[in-house]
Order: sequence, then C-alpha cells, then structure tokens
Amino acid sequence: MKIHFFKNESHFYPRLSYTYENAKNVPFVDRCKKIRKSMPWILLIPSFVFYILFRRQLPFMFYSWILPLHIPVHELCHTLFCWLCGRKVARICFFPNKFRLTGAGAYVKPSFGVFSKYQTILLFAFPFLLLTVLPAILAVFIPTWREELLLLSLINLAGSTWDMMDVYNMFFLPKNGLYFGDFAVTVTDETKPVIIHKLYVTNDMDGIHHKRFTYENGKFTENDSVYDIPDTIRLKKEFTEQFNLEG
Ligand SMILES: [Zn+2]
Repeated sequence: MKIHFFKNESHFYPRLSYTYENAKNVPFVDRCKKIRKSMPWILLIPSFVFYILFRRQLPFMFYSWILPLHIPVHELCHTLFCWLCGRKVARICFFPNKFRLTGAGAYVKPSFGVFSKYQTILLFAFPFLLLTVLPAILAVFIPTWREELLLLSLINLAGSTWDMMDVYNMFFLPKNGLYFGDFAVTVTDETKPVIIHKLYVTNDMDGIHHKRFTYENGKFTENDSVYDIPDTIRLKKEFTEQFNLEG
C-alpha cells in the first residue's frame, strides 16, 4: 500500500479501459449530483456551532488537531474494511485535487478485484459507522469524553457526506451486481465465468498493458495468458492512435 499526495488516478494511468465477456455494464447514475459539492460545507456548520456552544469544555488543542487528523483516520477506516474483506489496498491518495475545495480530500483505492453490492455499501459506510455512529453512542456512556466524542461524530458526519451519497447510489445497484471500483456489471449467464479484460497505459508510455481476470463461483483470479476479442482489438486501436504507441 502506497501513500500519495496531490496525485489522482489520471497520474498513474493516463488511460485505463475495461471490457468483459458474459457480463452487462450497470451504468452509474449519481442521484445526488446537485447537492454533492455544497453538502459537506453545509454539514460542517453543526460542528462549528457545537464548538462555539461547548468551547469551555473543549480544549483548543483537541479542536485544532481533530480536523486535520480525522482525514487519515477516516481513510484508514475504508482501508480496514478492505482488509476485513481480504482485499489489498493499492494506495491512499491525499488531496487528489490539489487544493480544490469542492473535490474529495482523500480516497482509498483498493487493488483490482470485486465487491458485492452490500460489501460496496459497507466499504463506503465504514468510516461513518466507526467515526460518527460509534462516537455518538459512546458519548451516552462516557460523560467525561462526551463533548470530544460528539465533536468527532459531527466532523466526520461532514467528512462522510460523499461516502453516504455513494451509499445511497449503491442501493440502486442490482442485488446480484458485481462492483469493480471503476465499473459495475451483472452476470449474463450464471453458469459461465465472467472474463474481464483490463487495458491500460502507465506514465512510462511503455506500450499497452493487457491483463485478463476471471470471476467464477464467487472467486476472482488473474489469468496468466491473455487473448483478444473484438472489443480489445478496438480498444488497442484507440490507445495506439491516442498515444502513438505500438500495440
Ligand atoms: Zn470516505
């Protein structure tokens, strides 16, 4: 697992495309598009109001540290869920949009593989459960830490806004949908394996990389050999023209 600052996926892969056999694409529809950018800022207001009201009980040090520290801890919660599912994490990227305030402050990129619908929902919801719901419950039972726990809960509520919008969007995924991070599919014929072809170029521009994966009986494996189908031939032609590469 690598940690990067000020880089996003386009830095690692100038182009990345997938095509598949025995699977149908499930288009991603963002049902929260209109409120996506403004919502985290609106949800930060309760944290400020809470701090103003309870600042006598809260040491300033706690308040000044919890804001920046909450970001890596939040990302570690996503990472923890990947590990619990037996998945590796390829990288955590902090400030992927530099200092553009309307984009995500950080994200976790799991290594290529598959999540079921409910694993995907939990992947997005995990920091909300651990850093918003859990501290709110603990605040009831631990009066000495009540203000600190409630402030953490509120700050992470704002930090989880985009995650919770993704959770909402994911509820519309079909029940048997397979989520691969960059795309989602449904299986056409359950008795046959799903074959995924991953094509990409790296920043080294050392040609077109082609990898093949199989999903069968709940197991996801990378195959040693690759072959072409009409879609991979079409994509390779597109890559070659776009980057002046040899196929
Ligand atoms: Zn998150």
